[in-house]
Amino acid sequence: MRVLMIAPPGAGKGTQGALIAAHFDIPHIATGELLRHHVARDTELGRAVRRHLDRGELVPDQIVLDMVTEAMIAAKAAGGGYVLDGIPRNLSQARQLYQIGRELDMTADVALHLQAGDDELMRRLLARAVLEHRSDDTEDVIARRLALYHEVTAPIVDWYGERGILVSVDAMRPAEQVGREILAALEVMRALVDHVPPEARRAIDLTSLGVAFGEVRG
Ligand code: AMP
Repeated sequence: MRVLMIAPPGAGKGTQGALIAAHFDIPHIATGELLRHHVARDTELGRAVRRHLDRGELVPDQIVLDMVTEAMIAAKAAGGGYVLDGIPRNLSQARQLYQIGRELDMTADVALHLQAGDDELMRRLLARAVLEHRSDDTEDVIARRLALYHEVTAPIVDWYGERGILVSVDAMRPAEQVGREILAALEVMRALVDHVPPEARRAIDLTSLGVAFGEVRG
């Protein structure tokens, strides 16, 4: 199973990425984590990207793409599955990632879109700041990261819809509930990926599933 996630900061990419990785026994490749690790170890790459992370700005595409290519080559050797968390962040990364995937014969089977509103995301990230002390979890920087998400990341969702691999989930609910829904949707997709070409599939929109089952939105 090869999954990439598109989600605003605070929507639960890290949590759900770890769940997907454990469920399918595939590597969880989280670009933000990899970059923070470089910063913590004060590597050359870490020094080159620290300011971008602190300000909530995107690191130059090529740096992230090189890092991810390396991780995907390792994932190929480990069986070929992956869950990508944090990339792509803009259309250029989406296109280049697709090329890299084609060259390695491991393009994504599913683009998982986690949807959540800005007020809830700000609340979650400020709560996380108290626990994790990330340099980019201050109110100003969170606001910048959310704005950047709407400006350059959210538009790529449609691109995956056109490619027939999009699954959208409402991430405003408790993590366990969102996780269960994601795994159920991915199991359905797993049954399709080997038999139905992406062009012949339709996007799956589960964002109003809770409401359809009588859930009251707060
Ligand atoms: P995240 O942990 O996914 O929220 O990412 C934290 C920070 O890492 C982001 O605010 C960016 O500065 C940087 N970053 C992570 N992934 C990417 C990417 N694909 N392209 C550019 N910058 C990234």
